[in-house]
Parts: sequence; C-alpha cells; structure tokens
Amino acid sequence: MKTCICAVAFCVLGALAASAQQDLDIVLAGGRVLDPETGLDAEGDVGISSGSIAAISETSLSSRLKPGGTLIDARGLIVAPGFIDLHAHGQTNRANEFQARDGVTTALELEGGYGSVGEWIASRKGRALLNFGASVSHATLRVSAMPELAGKVKGNEAESSPELRAGLYAPLPEERTKTLYQLFEKGLREGGLGIGMPHAYYPGADRREIFRVFEFASEKKVPIYTHVRQVGVEAIQEVVADAAATGASLHVVHVNSTSLWDLPLVLEILEGARKRGVDVTTEAYPYTAASTSIESAIFDDGWQERLRISYGDIQWQNTGERLTEETFHEYREKGGIVIIHLMKPEWVDLAVKTPFVMVASDGMPYAAGAHPRSAGTFSRILGRYVREREVLDLMEAVAKMTLHPAKRLEDVAPAMKKKGRIQVGADADVTVFDLGTVRDTADFEGDLTYAEGVVHVLVNGVFVVRDSQSVRDVFPGKPLLGRYLVN
Ligand SMILES: [Zn+2]
Repeated sequence: MKTCICAVAFCVLGALAASAQQDLDIVLAGGRVLDPETGLDAEGDVGISSGSIAAISETSLSSRLKPGGTLIDARGLIVAPGFIDLHAHGQTNRANEFQARDGVTTALELEGGYGSVGEWIASRKGRALLNFGASVSHATLRVSAMPELAGKVKGNEAESSPELRAGLYAPLPEERTKTLYQLFEKGLREGGLGIGMPHAYYPGADRREIFRVFEFASEKKVPIYTHVRQVGVEAIQEVVADAAATGASLHVVHVNSTSLWDLPLVLEILEGARKRGVDVTTEAYPYTAASTSIESAIFDDGWQERLRISYGDIQWQNTGERLTEETFHEYREKGGIVIIHLMKPEWVDLAVKTPFVMVASDGMPYAAGAHPRSAGTFSRILGRYVREREVLDLMEAVAKMTLHPAKRLEDVAPAMKKKGRIQVGADADVTVFDLGTVRDTADFEGDLTYAEGVVHVLVNGVFVVRDSQSVRDVFPGKPLLGRYLVN
C-alpha cells in the first residue's frame, strides 16, 4: 500500500514537473547568442514564452517546448536583440515591412514627432507590425501657440497646412511660452517620448525660443531630439550650450549629414560635453546622401554655399533624375522629396566607427525611389562595416543598434529596460541573421528592395519575418509610451 501511494505521488509530481517544464512557445536553437549589456557571446538556445525571453541556455531547451511549439534551427546564425531605430519617419506597415526585413523591431519617430501624440498612437494601436512611439512636435505646437494661428492648427493634419508653413519663419513671442509648455505637457501625458525639435526646418525659432524648449525638457526630465539649426559647428554649439546650461538631455539626430566637413570637430565637442557630464547622445546613418523635402527651409536662398553643393548633386525621388537650375525651381514650386548627395565617404566612416555614435536610419516614408536607408541601414552596417571592411566589431555594431538606443530612452520610457537585450525577462524582440550573407540591397537608382540575410525577426514573441520571408497579417507591435502616461 505504502509503495503504491509513493508510486502515485511520484507519478503526479513527475507529471507536474513535466508540464512546468513544457513552458516555451518558441526555441531558437543553437545560434550564436549576443547580449551587448552582459557581454554574452556564446552558442546556445533562447526560449520564448508569452512574448518574453524565458530561458537562455548553453544546453538544449527543446524538451521545454510546449506541444505544438516552434523549434527554429538557428545554428550558424546570430541571435541578437531586435534593432531599435530612433529615427524612422516611415510609420506605416509597408514601411515597417522594409524595416523588419532590415532587422528592426522598434521604429520611433523622434526627430519630428507629432502634434497630437495621442491621436497618432490610437491610429496605430493593435494595427502595427513593429513597436512604435513618437516625440511631441515642437514644429507643430509652436505654431499652435502663435496668437494669430492658434486654433487653426489641428492634430497631425497641420503638418503641411499653409498656417504651419507661415509659422516657420516667425518667432514664437516670449509671452506665448507658457502656452507652448501646456501643449508640450499634453503631448507628454498622451505618451510622448520627449520633444522633437528639428529647428533647421523653422528658422523663425530664435535662440531664446530654443533655450526655452531646453528649460521645459530639463524641468520635465525628458530628452530633446534635434535636427540642429544649420550645418556645421555653430549649430552644434547652440544645442550643447543649452543642454549644459539647463541640464536637459539631448539627442542630436544624424550627426553625419548636419556636420559634414566639421564632423571631426563636432564629434570632439560632443565627446568633451559627455565627459563633463552633459547628457548628450547622437546617431548616424551609413550613406553619403541625405533626403528631405525640396520646398523646406533647407533649400532657402544660400543653400549652395551652406551645403557646398549644386543642382546636379540633388536627385528627384520620383524619377531618379539629377536636377538642373530650371528643374530645381520647378520642383521647389510644386514640392516633393529629393535625395541630396553631399557627404564624403570618410565622414560617414568616422561617424559610424566613433564609439558613442548610435546607428539610426532617418528612413523616409515608404515611396518608390526612396532613399535606400529606409530599407538597408542596419544590414549595411553588419554587411559592409562589420563583415567586409571590419571597421566595427560585431558586438560593438549590435550595441549601437540595440542597447545604446534602449538606454538613451529608458529614463523617459521605462519599458525600454526590457528591450535591446537578450536576457531572461526581456521582451522577445529578437533578430536572427546570417553574418556571412547579411547585406543591404537597395540603392539610389531603383525602388526600395529588402535587405538580405535577416532570417527571422520576432516582435513581442511573434514572427514578423520567418525563413527570410515577411509574415502576413500579424500586428504584434506595441506602443512605447513615455512615463508621464505610464505613471
Ligand atoms: Zn533630419
């Protein structure tokens, strides 16, 4: 009798143990697992359960798979945290697909942001392929705060309204600062990740107004993401001085395209400020051309001298043609996107290999003929800079795309502490790629094409790329929300 009870108890416990062990939805087996925070770089299995990383082991985890779970043979592949793009203007699922094929799992609109963050988040929630989030738009809200324009600018439809355009060249009166602050605060309460401040596009914002934005950001302890006023060293000195004077956190977008010949000096200034405790970070994309609207303030009179380029260096996105004086004026009148060939390869190399410079795409909204950075930024870093040219080592490159952007945001968005890492308890945002073949394929001549060598991509534990193919009809992307909404 006694023996019998023991045998029954043993059986029950054994069954419980077996079911407790069969807890994994997905096992990525036998890949080279990288975690830039802990320095883990070893072959092993990664187990995923309910959207999180549940186990990492040098021995097999396949016995812990639930019945019907997914076993992926990742031998010979790199298993890395999903890439976090701090600078992604493409915020549709079509753009997300190109980003996913490039290894991106979180795509954020921080440079420009939105006038109504809440409206935008609501429009994407439950429908997004990738994780998404945005800053609060200084460009839009400063116009909303202008006495003669207040009330005419609504939500996010204001982006290209005539009212907004008129406001680009007017300073915000000092007495309207409080109104601007109230609008900023509303955006933060709707989940905004800080203040998007691309003041190169609205030269009316004078140095006083910009300083007031820094004061606000410092008080609220949220970062400013800036496209600096003009190219070169004066522009960087304005924002670094304001960050130092106010204590605000500052992220300088695309340091390559706004520094140009001054890049070595700009990087020295940024490094010096960082060493002295200013919270400033920056990013670059690995291409020698920029891209923006031809009708923007970037092309106001004097652009040839400012950028040291001419008509033939500008390419019309729709046709790929290079411009002449005549077509430049024709297109500027009607408006549209251009690609601007203005950087030397050595400037881009310097930005990419500088240790504190992160990788971010500045990818444009999806369009035929769009700048290739929209589809190839991250695979280009891995293929060209790591594998072919050995400019960066693999772990350093992965850190620039994962851990460093996550850490930049984790004060304003605590959920970022669970991203950019392959660790137990982290979100299962994972990119599995073949270091032997990963490469960008899009160029300046044709339409966008998917990167190659990115084999599997998971967002919150759901495949968005599997066996190098896009997965259809999945929407696992979640909003990344600033702490003023979360708390
Ligand atoms: Zn920009």
